[in-house]
Amino acid sequence: MGRSGPMPDVYNWQLGRDMSYRFDEAHPDWQFAFVFNINRCLACQTCTMACKSTWTFSEGQEYMWWNNVETKPYGGYPQGWDVKLLSLLEQANPGGQVWDTSKAGPRKPYGEYEGMTIFEAAQAKGRQEQALGYLPTDEEWQAPNIHEDTATGPKGVPGAYGAGAELPVHRPWFFYLQRLCNHCTYPGCLAACPRNAIYKRPEDGIVLIDQARCRGYRKCVEQCPYKKPMYRATTRVSEKCIACYPRVEGTDPLTDGLPMETRCMSVCPGKIRMQGLVKIDEKTGQWEEDPENPIFYLVKVAKVALPLYPQFGTEPNGYYIPPRWVPRGFLRQMFGPGVDRAIETYLAPPRELLAVMQLFRATQRIIFKFRIEKGPKVRDVVIGGKPWAMYNDTVIGYDRAGNEVANLSVLEPFHVRPRKYPNSI
Ligand code: SF4
Ligand code: SF4
Repeated sequence: MGRSGPMPDVYNWQLGRDMSYRFDEAHPDWQFAFVFNINRCLACQTCTMACKSTWTFSEGQEYMWWNNVETKPYGGYPQGWDVKLLSLLEQANPGGQVWDTSKAGPRKPYGEYEGMTIFEAAQAKGRQEQALGYLPTDEEWQAPNIHEDTATGPKGVPGAYGAGAELPVHRPWFFYLQRLCNHCTYPGCLAACPRNAIYKRPEDGIVLIDQARCRGYRKCVEQCPYKKPMYRATTRVSEKCIACYPRVEGTDPLTDGLPMETRCMSVCPGKIRMQGLVKIDEKTGQWEEDPENPIFYLVKVAKVALPLYPQFGTEPNGYYIPPRWVPRGFLRQMFGPGVDRAIETYLAPPRELLAVMQLFRATQRIIFKFRIEKGPKVRDVVIGGKPWAMYNDTVIGYDRAGNEVANLSVLEPFHVRPRKYPNSI
């Protein structure tokens, strides 16, 4: 189906403004969302393998990694996906991808994006496509973890490839970026599909490809800016992350009918991942005010977790606590203008945030609410020239039914191994 007439306007809160999209605004009752703390990732790929062994172990799926962890700045799967998209956007609107942060306010937490989204850039070029995009080549899909652990930025040679570290102070840097489908509010894949085979579920905002309707045109592969739909040659249709929807629905026998986190989230040994469901306000289509929901708290209250490439315009529902050691310019391009505030907050976390951070990977159940019991002050330190105090608070997490499913204090309990159990190694 081609575009006919002007595209409707929808409100994108991450951009702080209306933007053009193929369809009118329509929001689910709840939205699948997640927060990743990049600072903690080990790049162990346990998440990647958990997903692979659950969903993409069959013929024709060999190259499919619905979840992948890539090393930035050079790594990417498919190779160069984000650099290519950013270049296309820049070509369409040279020098225009900027934000007006002076307009920041309640409905515009990061200010207002003045540049073009992938939808607007396609429209401005008078293209048939709904969104700016490209089809990766077979070679670009060949090496899922290319450039793993490769640093940049050696002393005196900014941007050099493969820099080695020098002690005591080293300037080379890299970081791990954990990626899966963002189950976007305004998905590029869904807008692109000429068969209307892609839909967003009204109950949880999970974006799925109807395998019976899909004819394998690969428009979703081309127009998802994150390159998360993948074409399967054996069935000649496209597939993508399904957000482990049986677990989110609570149909896994392990959880007595209550929502459970996805496979990639629940296996993470680095405890970097938290996944949840945020309630959408029926009237406004925005996240309902719910500061006791940990995802709402991290994204909207503490503002420590930020969307990945918000300028693309799909309003992704994956949020990242940015890595504190990476040059800010690089991070601002990747996560928008909220980066400085997010890192300052993470470095000296407010009391409540420190408690909520303990909930990452505390349970496989989705936590819908948290409550904090105040504990004593345990430390006074100076961070960045300012005094900072640590409190041994206890955070309690509750599932959808109100059952307590997590109970952790900021200080971990200290155990001394008894003499009768000596270390035998
Ligand atoms: S399982 Fe967790 S720590 Fe390991 S690579 Fe995945 S996100 Fe990182
Ligand atoms: S990340 Fe890509 S595949 Fe996932 S919903 Fe967004 S546009 Fe679609």
